[in-house]
Amino acid sequence: MDEVVISRAIVESYMKDFMAAMEVDVAIAGAGPAGLVTAYYLAKDGIRAVVFEKQLCVGGGMPGGGMMLNRIVLQEQGKQILDEFDVSVREYQKGYYVADSLEAVSAICWKAIKAGTRIFNLISVEDVMVREDDRITGLVLNWSAVSWSKLHVDPLTIRCKVVVDATGHDAEVCRIVVQKIGKKLRTKTGDVIGQKAMWAEKGEKEILENTREVHPGLVVAGMTANAVFGSPRMGAIFGGMLLSGKKAAQIAKELLR
Ligand SMILES: Cc1cc2nc3c(=O)[nH]c(=O)nc-3n(C[C@H](O)[C@H](O)[C@H](O)COP(=O)(O)OP(=O)(O)OC[C@H]3O[C@@H](n4cnc5c(N)ncnc54)[C@H](O)[C@@H]3O)c2cc1C
Repeated sequence: MDEVVISRAIVESYMKDFMAAMEVDVAIAGAGPAGLVTAYYLAKDGIRAVVFEKQLCVGGGMPGGGMMLNRIVLQEQGKQILDEFDVSVREYQKGYYVADSLEAVSAICWKAIKAGTRIFNLISVEDVMVREDDRITGLVLNWSAVSWSKLHVDPLTIRCKVVVDATGHDAEVCRIVVQKIGKKLRTKTGDVIGQKAMWAEKGEKEILENTREVHPGLVVAGMTANAVFGSPRMGAIFGGMLLSGKKAAQIAKELLR
């Protein structure tokens, strides 16, 4: 085996995919459950979707289950989504289902990639690109290692028609929009309101209402949706994250039309 051939194979193959990711229909920030599900439902319909994840591994908060016990709980509608990903789900008691969080993350990630999406880990979204009417037209990216090591290195940019902020409770893309464009999100304050205290039932219900376009060209999904609109957190029940990802894909498709 030739080490240089191995190195060439990695660089060429990666750069081919990265070049293809520079002009896409939908760019998703965050490979947690919501971002991955969004990517799957877009790619399944032939839409060019890419995901940028700042950490080494995908899955966001899902692998950790509840307090590091790697199980997740779902309600009936959430279970139906995991059925589509062939994840084993067990009924715990009427209306409550439990699944292995690692199996769920692996299955969702595998299906999203097989459907045609590309996931780039260790890349952070650090800014957005805007044009007339403050419409968001792309993402500004850098290696996560650059910010972690506080290096002074300029980023690169990709163009897209729709951005999905699935960065979890930090709502990082929305916060960038507020800081750099002004308080123009479609919330009561125009700002990221911030998530409220734990109330699983309310949080799960509101996450679907909150999954929408919050700024021209920017859709929110998963925990970001509740953080932006000031809805409650819900802890280790994950049905809402999956359903929100599916709805975000639907909204992105409508915006592309
Ligand atoms: C640190 C952390 C905090 C949590 N806090 C809460 C909480 O307050 N309330 C609650 O109900 N549940 C919380 N959870 C639990 C549970 O994990 C979430 O409800 C669920 O995972 C949310 O799914 P999601 O896909 O919306 O976001 P997450 O699972 O959080 O996934 C978001 C992903 O986006 C990535 N990301 C973030 N910023 C960027 C960026 N700039 N560029 C690229 N990628 C980025 C993250 O690395 C992560 O992988 C938390 C989990 C974690 C890991």
